[in-house]
Amino acid sequence: MSKAKILIVDDRPENLFVLESLLDEPDIELVTASSGNEALAKILDNDFALVLLDVQMPGMDGYEVAELMRGNRHTRHIPIIFVTAKHKEQASIFKGYDSGAVDYLFKPLEPVILKGKVGVFLELYRQKRELEEKTRELDKRLADLQELKGLLERTNEQLTHLSKMDGLTGLLNRRSFDEIYHDEWQRGRRYGENLSILIIDIDSFKAYNDYYGHTMGDDALKAVAQCLASSAQRHIDRVARYGGEEFVVVLPRTGLESAEAMAETICKNVRRLNISHEGSTLEKRITVSIGVSSIVPNADMDSLLLVEYADAKLYQAKAAGRNQWCSGHAVPEQGRPHETKR
Ligand code: GH3
Ligand code: MG
Ligand code: MG
Repeated sequence: MSKAKILIVDDRPENLFVLESLLDEPDIELVTASSGNEALAKILDNDFALVLLDVQMPGMDGYEVAELMRGNRHTRHIPIIFVTAKHKEQASIFKGYDSGAVDYLFKPLEPVILKGKVGVFLELYRQKRELEEKTRELDKRLADLQELKGLLERTNEQLTHLSKMDGLTGLLNRRSFDEIYHDEWQRGRRYGENLSILIIDIDSFKAYNDYYGHTMGDDALKAVAQCLASSAQRHIDRVARYGGEEFVVVLPRTGLESAEAMAETICKNVRRLNISHEGSTLEKRITVSIGVSSIVPNADMDSLLLVEYADAKLYQAKAAGRNQWCSGHAVPEQGRPHETKR
């Protein structure tokens, strides 16, 4: 720890000299001032452990210096020992305490008493510095902890985000679809709103992999995924990877006709990607088949009904030659769903 600084204030050089000699210790740095003004200037410039203040000085006396020190928030905590030649008169002692003094020493100085009193203040000062140091350390640790906490929160957010995304395509994954679908089903049921879904499957994709290899197969999957994402324009429409080369689009507050229009757009947009597919028996480019289904959910229905219908419609689209969509209302009371084919 650095040396403790003590300011000695006395207008008489011989008194300063005596105090300097008595307090000449390796762990103390002595600073002197020979007037009240000089003392105040030095107090503002230094961090003193203690001020030994002569009471009787020409101009500003010791009491005035003490009063001014107490008026400044930077200096009001510095302990003062008044050094006075006056006898121990009650009045003058109280005057000192009024201006914030903490102790008195009487001239001629008793070295033992002087050292004893100064020692007490130095010890207090060191304890204070130690506490300040510890507080700073704790503050730093607290700041470090807060930074770590922030980092952890960000990492958790990223993990949560990643756990919802499909690693290859960047679309929502199957788990997210399940959650979203469940929520939208409940919402549709509560508000009596339409809910539609599209199940999209790339045609003859096994043949694509066989012909171009798995890596290009992955690239094609990504391109189709991107195309689907940009085809779904409302923020409430959600596109997810359903599994393998299958995707699903959830269309809340959407009737069958609008869902069909979306399916048509997607078929067109995927064809427009113009990804060569020499292994295809259809067009020589990548195409998709889509099953479209729509429903107004109600409490009596199994929420899987809509997905099963869309799946059945996809199967129909495949069976009918692929590269097209098939649709139907998923209304159990009507028995077989109303069918549209294209
Ligand atoms: P269909 O027109 O009837 O849908 O025929 P298909 O060949 O597309 O269907 P099938 O189910 O026989 O094959 C799907 C293929 O999709 C097989 C599988 O290797 C491929 N596939 C699934 N996931 C991935 C993937 O992440 N990357 C790549 N490159 N291929 C995948
Ligand atoms: Mg498939
Ligand atoms: Mg397929």
